[in-house]
Amino acid sequence: MTILNIIEAIDRWGIKEPNRPVYIESNRTYTYGELKKDSDAIAAYLQKNIERSRPIVVYGELEFEMLACFLGASKAGHAYIPIEAHTPKERVEMILAVADPAMIFSVKEWNGLETNAEIVSLEKIQDICTKAVSSDLSFEPVVESETYYVIFTSGTTGVPKGVQISHTNLLSFVNWELTDFGITEGMRFLSQAPYSFDLSVMDVYPALTSGGSLTPMRKDVINDFKTLFTVLPSLEIEVWVSTPSFMDICLMEPTFDGEHVDSLKIFLFCGEELPKATAQKLLERFPKARIFNTYGPTEATVAISGVEITQELLDEYSRVPIGYVKEDTDVYIMNEDLELQEDEVGEIVIAGPSVSKGYLHNPEKTADAFFEYKGQPAYRTGDAGKLKNGMLIYDGRMDFQIKLHGYRIELEDIDHHLASVSYVKQAAVVPKYQNHKVQQLVAFVVAHPHDFEKEFKLTKAIKEELSSSVMDYMIPQKFIYVDQLPLTANGKIDRKGLMNEVNAT
Ligand code: AMP
Repeated sequence: MTILNIIEAIDRWGIKEPNRPVYIESNRTYTYGELKKDSDAIAAYLQKNIERSRPIVVYGELEFEMLACFLGASKAGHAYIPIEAHTPKERVEMILAVADPAMIFSVKEWNGLETNAEIVSLEKIQDICTKAVSSDLSFEPVVESETYYVIFTSGTTGVPKGVQISHTNLLSFVNWELTDFGITEGMRFLSQAPYSFDLSVMDVYPALTSGGSLTPMRKDVINDFKTLFTVLPSLEIEVWVSTPSFMDICLMEPTFDGEHVDSLKIFLFCGEELPKATAQKLLERFPKARIFNTYGPTEATVAISGVEITQELLDEYSRVPIGYVKEDTDVYIMNEDLELQEDEVGEIVIAGPSVSKGYLHNPEKTADAFFEYKGQPAYRTGDAGKLKNGMLIYDGRMDFQIKLHGYRIELEDIDHHLASVSYVKQAAVVPKYQNHKVQQLVAFVVAHPHDFEKEFKLTKAIKEELSSSVMDYMIPQKFIYVDQLPLTANGKIDRKGLMNEVNAT
């Protein structure tokens, strides 16, 4: 069945089967009826209090109220912007400056930043949700090319970029995921990725539109290995959605296999390269499950290609391919001048209905990456790749964007904030790789004169100051102090040279 409207597809379960479970916490199960009631109440509140279509921030972690706010916003015609609760203040400030939201639903306690937007606390949200909504009230939800959500991602200038995803973009993705991956009505999905990472869209919307449920797995459980593997079998998760990095952690537990966790039927990976060894291990551990590698950037709505992992596939390719492109989309391999490259490695360009309209309030960056091709919105991914008999093969990045534990980071973003630290004169951050995977971020730093007796004390002070402006996963693990940074012939910092140095051994 093709879904035509996201909100209607979700609400039909709340109307038809209000007791159907939608969100399964360890101590409480929420139903579709509750989700509909709460999101209706939030939509009514928004409709009454603010102008339609201004964006709304939803601040928190993996709480049920986050979902209710997302849906409430969409029902009332607003794009929502998920921000994870532990995001450093300076970063939140930059996002607010770009987005200019009308309201902030603060499911977790607000970080104290001053803003023009009205801040709605959890108590207030809960109060709003106790109000009955008149059945005569009609909503004007987000439709067609209107923005459904905005996800902020690392930007080279140090200012995050807000990718705008429309209702049409989201429909294109959801209809594909519900068709090509063996998902059936009412399945239980793992919800592990933070809502501010578009990987979460891979579980939230396919689950909710097909009457399925989400089982959140919070950081405290993930960080506690023993609890994680004690609870995992009891969660009865059927659809696993995660980065390969998270799977690598899980595979360290020998009992994580089809015998002990026998509910698992489908594995969906996205967000970074799926190492061949991980894929191989999974095939062996879960012989009855179906495992898929999918690929795509936030700018083209989560993923645009996918392939099922089989032994034949692994035997044929030295790196796991990123799959066949979804039916409504075209992928072109192009050179720098946007000319087609036949049978050669070039830039992966995606054109189709799931390609975003661009970055919020950022025409310059939008013009750099987005254009129209053969009448379709197109996006230059910055990924190198080639097409072989319809199969897309990934060949690394063409710029200095990297993935660390699935998180997308522009190295220039870290450089920019590192150079603003009071002890730092100049800095360049480079990745250390192992088997195509970033293991560590290494910072080369020219420090100002300082009074620290030992370098590690200087490093500690730098890390501390840096943590107020970048996400914790962007803080380099290793610092190397130098008198000056090497330059290329045209006077730029020679990052490639530094990368070679770090990766030489
Ligand atoms: P994000 O916008 O956070 O989803 O990051 C998108 C980027 O992650 C892509 O442009 C790729 O560089 C990388 N990526 C995503 N999925 C895969 C995959 N299956 N294999 C290799 N790289 C991937």
